[in-house]
Amino acid sequence: MKKQSYVLFGHPVKHSASAAMFTAAFRTAGLPHSYSPVDVGTLGALERAVGYLRDGVYDGANVTLPYKREVLGLVDRIDESAARALAANVLVRDANDKVVAYNTDVGALQAEIVEATADRRRAAILGAGGAATAAIAACKALGFSVIGVTTRSWTDTEAIVDSPSSERVRAVGGLASVWPSHEHVQPSTKLSMAMRMQWTELAQLADIVIQATSAGMQGADPGDEVASVVPFESMSKRAFALDLVYRPPTTPFIEKARKAGIPAASGLGMLVRQAEAAYKLWLGQAPAPAVMRNAVDALIAGDS
Ligand code: NDP
Repeated sequence: MKKQSYVLFGHPVKHSASAAMFTAAFRTAGLPHSYSPVDVGTLGALERAVGYLRDGVYDGANVTLPYKREVLGLVDRIDESAARALAANVLVRDANDKVVAYNTDVGALQAEIVEATADRRRAAILGAGGAATAAIAACKALGFSVIGVTTRSWTDTEAIVDSPSSERVRAVGGLASVWPSHEHVQPSTKLSMAMRMQWTELAQLADIVIQATSAGMQGADPGDEVASVVPFESMSKRAFALDLVYRPPTTPFIEKARKAGIPAASGLGMLVRQAEAAYKLWLGQAPAPAVMRNAVDALIAGDS
């Protein structure tokens, strides 16, 4: 079997667990393939990297932050899975040497949400990047009727109107709300002041609250502020808190939720599911069961 080369495009990529998962899955299947992170510092470098995939230097690629959206402008075709999330995390070279963008985060998240809760009417989401639009698409597909979203740069109603990220959030089915905690920023209008309450009220009624910012991730902001804008104490104990951050496996968001009696999980389950789906897109068959999960568990256990 000819050795194939799979890669991860992103910046930074040093905390990624993907290489451990894919390498374990290839070895278990007896395949000589490799998987390695490629730190892509600029959009120009990403365009060149996508070109290498088209030319056959690479055989498949994952895409991670901050490029899940931008990469859509660099591929030859966008699969429906990526179109509905306005973001892609998997690139496949097809039989005609065209690069096709897919999104396996959405399906992975759908499965995680179904496992987390049977109540699926209202969701509250933090963040407005690729992970957040994937979360909105997953909630939409599961039939949630209200999907409230906020992010730190939406300081008031004007900021929402002017923001491309709020346009994307609305385009995929989210309800954009003012970030609730900017005590030091004077709201420009009474409406903005009133709207500061909107996300909090939505979160209080939510069946699931999803933390889709990078706050709390190893090497990023510690995540205390993001955790502080969620009204865990006044949420139903039947609600579920899902942090998409997986490394470290416990974040201030998860700790605060559990302290308030609300069950919570990290993004580890989603990480493994999206990787298993990417493997299947590239190789046409699923990896051996539990191999990827065991690999990532071992990697994260080594952190402590
Ligand atoms: P993006 O860079 O596309 O978006 C990040 C979002 O988080 C932006 O809305 C940004 O706001 C916000 N943000 C960043 N830092 C902070 C902070 N300190 N406080 C509040 N908001 C902040 O990243 P992605 O959407 O691709 O990824 C977000 C997270 O989700 C990452 O931690 C990633 O690891 C995780 N993820 C996990 C997956 C899994 O399988 N478990 C899959 C995909 C993502 P602003 O625009 O103002 O900068």
